[in-house]
Amino acid sequence: MTQEPGTGSRGLERSRELYERAARVLVDGVSSPSRGPVNFQPHPIFMAHGEGAEIHDADGNRYLDLMLGYGSLIHGHAHPELVQTLQNAAQDGALFATATEVEVEVAERITDMVACAEQVSFASTGTEAAMAALRLVRGYTGRPKIVKFEGHYHGWADAYSVSSNPVPSNVWGYRNDPIRVPDSSGITSGALQDTIVLPWNDPDRVEAILRSQAGEIAAVVTEPAMANMGVIPPEPGFLPALRELTERYGVLLYIDETVTGFRLAPGGAQERFGVTADITSFGKGLGAGLPVSALAGRKEIMAGLREGRILHYGTHNANPLLLSVVRRSLDMLRQDDGAAFKHLDGLVEQLRNGVEQVIGKRDVPALLQNAGAMLQLYFLRPGHEAVEKIRDARDFGDHVDPAMFNRFAHLMFEQGVYLSPSAALHSVLCTVSTPEQIDQVIAAVDAVFERLSA
Ligand code: PMP
Repeated sequence: MTQEPGTGSRGLERSRELYERAARVLVDGVSSPSRGPVNFQPHPIFMAHGEGAEIHDADGNRYLDLMLGYGSLIHGHAHPELVQTLQNAAQDGALFATATEVEVEVAERITDMVACAEQVSFASTGTEAAMAALRLVRGYTGRPKIVKFEGHYHGWADAYSVSSNPVPSNVWGYRNDPIRVPDSSGITSGALQDTIVLPWNDPDRVEAILRSQAGEIAAVVTEPAMANMGVIPPEPGFLPALRELTERYGVLLYIDETVTGFRLAPGGAQERFGVTADITSFGKGLGAGLPVSALAGRKEIMAGLREGRILHYGTHNANPLLLSVVRRSLDMLRQDDGAAFKHLDGLVEQLRNGVEQVIGKRDVPALLQNAGAMLQLYFLRPGHEAVEKIRDARDFGDHVDPAMFNRFAHLMFEQGVYLSPSAALHSVLCTVSTPEQIDQVIAAVDAVFERLSA
């Protein structure tokens, strides 16, 4: 028997038992650190199946799912059309590692939808596509360095694993001379040396670096809306400034749309914010829950990959089974003149209004930020209640209270709403989310805020 979301009374006995077993054979009992004890107390909730915008745990509890596979499930769980497509394609075999028609058809759709995409190269994960992009921009320009921004995440490759995690801003030093902080042990000094880190939303800092070091820099790499420090939209004019500066100084612009691609608009954040990159990459929303990613860009640059001059191999590149689902998913996003995106925007509006009313009436200092159907609540630290906006990772480190967010998330679970308990991640909606479900989320937020303010 499953229970209605929002009842607040549920057992987690089976999850607890599974976690005891898991902790013996899996590191931290999970398969990625953010799913484990750093975020979940006393243990993660083991999920068993999902349908639409709902997910069911191993004890039979039902939740509205706002995490949706870290933003991958653009059409929710087990969409009947995608399940049917996958079943049909499975009859033909899972993998040929040869040329196939479906990869042409998906690449044609991507080049139709995304302005900068003249040619495409498929990979499996966001990390992999970003690694291919890194080698491509270096090989194409013959320059070793990249500029990345504080608090931006581009997967876990060495070159990108610098200054991505939230820290109090003093750890990163002065804005005009940022200290590079490795995200992990095992990062080489070479990676630190070749990755220049800057605060985001600050075109003057970008210009200063390009003016002095452009001859060494292959690309400026950016998320178009920050999605790994909650949700931080670009300041008006910031992305166009990056475009103008990179052009002026002859440096490539790589926009990492792993999170925003096929989520913010048919042409991604680049369409939504009116900017065109030289190269871009997609992951999550592209795969609709399956491991498919893509690197795409101007033909002249993508030609660097020809005949393996700049190497990008992969047994699973353009896996036909998975791409058959991607083809259907992209068609669903494009049909009816992009109705899916209008639907998402309507739901976001409803959620924003509802949650802002809750914030207004309860005595809990919090801010809601969003970029399209990606949203995050920031709880403000005591003494920081007057902060009106989080505009970069330094603001996040100084003003945001991640422990309070973690508590909020655990209380939301009790209300039948599942979301990532990390303040640095965010919630998303999917094309099959309904206005009634948004009302349930707002009611859950209200109930939790009442408890937090008590
Ligand atoms: N780029 C961005 C902007 C991301 O948010 C992520 C994942 N959160 C990645 C790259 C890496 O994607 P994956 O987890 O599929 O390797």
